[in-house]
Amino acid sequence: MKTLRSRITLSILLMVFGTVFILSLLLNTVIRYRFNDYMEKVEKERSDFIAQQLSSYYNSFSGTWDEGAIHGIGMFALYDGYFVRVTNANGKIVWDAWNHDMTLCAEIMDEITERMNERHIGAEVELVSVEYPIYSGRSTDDKSTILAGTITIQYYGPFFLSEEAAWFLDTLNAVLLIVGGISLVVSIIIGLLLARRIASPVTKSAEIARSIASGDYKIRFEEKTKMRELDDLTESINHLADGLLEQEALRKRLTADVAHELRTPLSAISAHLEAMSDGVWEPTKERLLSCYEESVRLSKLVSDLEKLAVADNENFNLNLAPVNLKKLSENTVATFEREIKEKELKVSVLGSETEVMLDAGRFTQVIANLLHNAIKHTPKGGEIKITVTSGAFTIEDTGEGIPEKDLPYIFERFYRVDPSRSRESGGTGIGLAIAKAIVKAHGGDIIATSQEGKGSRFEVRNI
Ligand code: ADP
Repeated sequence: MKTLRSRITLSILLMVFGTVFILSLLLNTVIRYRFNDYMEKVEKERSDFIAQQLSSYYNSFSGTWDEGAIHGIGMFALYDGYFVRVTNANGKIVWDAWNHDMTLCAEIMDEITERMNERHIGAEVELVSVEYPIYSGRSTDDKSTILAGTITIQYYGPFFLSEEAAWFLDTLNAVLLIVGGISLVVSIIIGLLLARRIASPVTKSAEIARSIASGDYKIRFEEKTKMRELDDLTESINHLADGLLEQEALRKRLTADVAHELRTPLSAISAHLEAMSDGVWEPTKERLLSCYEESVRLSKLVSDLEKLAVADNENFNLNLAPVNLKKLSENTVATFEREIKEKELKVSVLGSETEVMLDAGRFTQVIANLLHNAIKHTPKGGEIKITVTSGAFTIEDTGEGIPEKDLPYIFERFYRVDPSRSRESGGTGIGLAIAKAIVKAHGGDIIATSQEGKGSRFEVRNI
């Protein structure tokens, strides 16, 4: 299997190499055509220039050509690849490069052919011949002037490569080759660096995920990658570790809390029974009743824990159906009739009759827990008000209230504002945790506000 790093390096390499290759090809083609045009023009101009130079060595007074000067110019032109022939008005040869030095001419021709073949110039070249008739007189356009002779210049056409032009093309090719080489090396370096920057956080994330899977929840990805997607990945992994660490701590705390909660009633029961069976205590009715009360408290604790376990379960199944929340509240209030009467409380259920999608059985548990708390913490003659609107349920009391420092923790399992008093009144510290779990399963939220000495308010939202 290919690694991410090798894939990235290869992709960058192919991309840069491809770009350089196409660019070189394009540049080469464009330059070749432009260069060919340019060279063609240059050849023509040079040929014209040589002819013009030669024509200046005709003496119109004596009607003769300066052979010495023509020889100089002709030889000079020959070395440049131009084969000159000058004939006089009668067609007699004054000077001819081929007649003068045939071997040299052949050598120069071979040299040029070789240069052209070497560089694959892309044009059919052949020996072209340009004739320049020379007239004696001031102007060649003047038809009355007399023909002085003819200059014939032969060269490879449409153009040929002089040594300088060949050198220019060679340099150009070398530059393109060097540029290609440099970009290849640079692309390998960039590819490797980039691949390392991308691949190393991914590899490290995989390592961290493996560590988390094997139980190390404290491990974290500390560095920032400066790449959004990779930062998202590492953050998600850190988040996962946070969540698992929290769950682990919760699990440990829950076990410790349950053990702690069980210890008090169990040690009370066993101490009582031991004393009675040892004959230290008489098994009176009050003592047996005390043991019974402790066992009832234990049963309630176990039943509450069971309810919490069910509500906390991820796969908590709700039997949703349209429910008249106001009716449901009134029915729940009716089940507390005895306690309400005993404390002479004024309980009212207000609000609309609208129906809400709820699991009636589970939501009754929420109302019951909140109402039970309100009754427990409201003094005689107090007032409890339940308000129902579509999607919200509020219960307010004029009770003792909850101290500000305790308010953020009251929904945590086993949290009690006044532990000893709560235990005496049969509180397990789980009621609100159960209510919150059920509301959460309904997709809602539960919020508590309170003022010490004045009363508390619990609002269930978004149900
Ligand atoms: P418990 O079963 O012990 O009452 P809960 O989880 O129901 O436990 O409540 C947690 C704590 O919140 C209680 O110990 C109590 O002090 C406080 N509390 C809950 N509801 C009210 C209320 N309406 N008024 C005052 N205090 C309340």
